Parts: sequence; C-alpha cells; structure tokens
Amino acid sequence: MKHIVVSGIKPSGRLHIGNYLGAMKNYVELQNSGNYQCYFFIADLHAITEPQDPKELAINILDITANFLAAGIDPKKSIIFQQSQIPAHSELAWILNTISPLGELERMTQFKDKSAKNEANINMGLFDYPVLMAGDVFLYNAEFIPVGDDQLQHLELARTLARKFNKRFGETFLEPKGILTKTPRVMSLKDPEKKMSKSEPEGCIFLDNSPEEIRKKIARAVTDSGSEISYDPIAKAGLSNLLELYAAFVDKDPHAIAVEFRGKKYSELKTSLADLIAEHFIKFREKKIKLLAKPSGIKSVLRSGSKKAAKVAEKKIKEVQKKVGL
Ligand code: ADP
Repeated sequence: MKHIVVSGIKPSGRLHIGNYLGAMKNYVELQNSGNYQCYFFIADLHAITEPQDPKELAINILDITANFLAAGIDPKKSIIFQQSQIPAHSELAWILNTISPLGELERMTQFKDKSAKNEANINMGLFDYPVLMAGDVFLYNAEFIPVGDDQLQHLELARTLARKFNKRFGETFLEPKGILTKTPRVMSLKDPEKKMSKSEPEGCIFLDNSPEEIRKKIARAVTDSGSEISYDPIAKAGLSNLLELYAAFVDKDPHAIAVEFRGKKYSELKTSLADLIAEHFIKFREKKIKLLAKPSGIKSVLRSGSKKAAKVAEKKIKEVQKKVGL
C-alpha cells in the first residue's frame, strides 16, 4: 500500500511563489516519486473564513485548479478535489469540535494574526480552521502533509486530536506528519519580517506574473541600506530572502549563492533573480493560459476527483459516526 499524502490550498487569491516553493513544488515531487497516493484539494471551506466575493471565489476555485494542473499535478496520478463538494469534511469537523479544547485553539498563531488584522470579522470559522483541517487529513488516513511551516502548529493540533479521539473511541485516525521543503517560509518582498501571503498581494510574486511584473516587483523588494551581498537572515532579512529564493530555484544553498554574488551590487542579484523566476514559469504560464481557455475541462477534473475522494471520505465518516454512537 502506498503512503497517503493530503494537502490543500485556499482559493482566496492567486498563487504566489511562497505557495509554490513551500507546498506545491513538493506536491509534484511526491506525486512523481510514485511512492504516494496523493490527494490535493481546493480548500474553499477554509477560504470563506475570510470574506470572499462569491463571484471571485468561483473564479479562484478554477484558477487554483489550473495552477495545480499547469504545475504538473496529473489527475491520472493524483486525486484533485473541491473540499466543499464532500459533506464529510464539514461533518467530521463538527464531531471533532466536540473534543477540541478551546484553550488549544486560542493559542493558534494564525488565528491571533488573522483576527488582529481583521477585527471586524473575528468569526467562529476562523477560530475553528485547525479543526476543519484536522478532519481534512483524517478522512483520507493521510500520513504525510506537505505544507509551509505556518501550518505546523495546526498539524500538531491534528495529532493531539487524533490521539484524543483514538483514546476515547478506539484506534481511528493516524497522526499526520508535516513534510517541509527547503524553503518552508518565503518572506514578503515588501516586509521581509512577514511571510509572503495572498492576503497581502503587494509583497507577492504570483506564478502567472509576466516577466516585466516580476522584474518590477523584485526591483522594488525591500532590502537593507548596505551594499555588501552576504547571507544573514537576521541583519539582512530582505536580501537573505532574495538569496533563499535564488537558491531554491537553482537548488543550491543560499550561502553558496551569496558567494557567487560577492562583490556585486544588490541590483545585479535582483535582475538575475527576476530573470530566473520569469524563466522558471514560462511553460507554466503557457499551460495555464491554455487550461483557462477551456474552463469546462478544469471543472470536469474537479468533478471526477471529488467523486473519487468522496468515496474514501464517506467510508471514513461512517466509521467515525459508528464509533461515536451516532
Ligand atoms: P496564503 O497564506 O498565501 O493564503 P494558503 O494558506 O492557501 O496560502 O497556503 C497554501 C500552502 O502554501 C500551505 O501549505 C502554506 O503553508 C503554504 N504557504 C503559504 N505561504 C507560504 C510562504 N510564504 N512560504 C512557504 N509556504 C507558504
């Protein structure tokens, strides 16, 4: 039996290179290794924990799916599905709610950050996000979860919930383990102290940005006022983020990149990095444009993937209901 991998991305905006380097690049590698049965999903129930325009949400669901396909996720090898189309996700979240300690949820950094940013909409869904996420991975008996390091705290909670449920109702859920890439936290180009995030588009390079846009954004990336290229994430956070990006795209160590650029100007590093990123996504951009020209094809991938995933999820939710006595 193959190991099971599950991971999702919210359709809350365009995908950026943080999503790619932290998660999606790994999706493709895990899929192509042949050692895993992978489930990749559009986390639309997670997306609505922050306000979404309904029309835009529908577009974003197709857009993220097109990103998956253009990046190399193959529906013949992996199951690509839409979370909201499988009722078991919401059902399991409700059951898990009944064993989730409020105190643990209150400690979640993402909840604290997002509620601080949006005081007018501190909603129950935002608070409950990690419980829904635990259910997402339990439904498919996932062992491995490729994510960026912002999700590790949520995964730890999922492990706690699995243990708690199993102790009370008998062995039912596996304890999922995170799989990180070499760049588990890409920082914002605008504020290198913060992670790059869809909710702050000014700091992002999107996967479908044109080479000109990429050049402009990197040229404007915040760095320190020094002039010497060296890798020092504390004293030179912005510059080090650029070196890490460069290293990720050529699969080298950021220290080695700093040595390659020693004596050169920041602007030279920025130009080379922009060229590198623009080139890396040439095929991706072409494929994505073709896919988006035929939305019915994308919808059909989601429909058939969701059907396959539903079979597995329904079996699990029945098992859970029975154990709980429902
Ligand atoms: P965002 O925070 O941009 O809205 P999501 O929450 O949808 O993105 O995250 C999708 C995946 O991308 C998750 O596995 C997450 O950990 C990863 N990810 C998001 N931002 C980054 C980042 N800046 N660096 C590395 N990985 C990231």
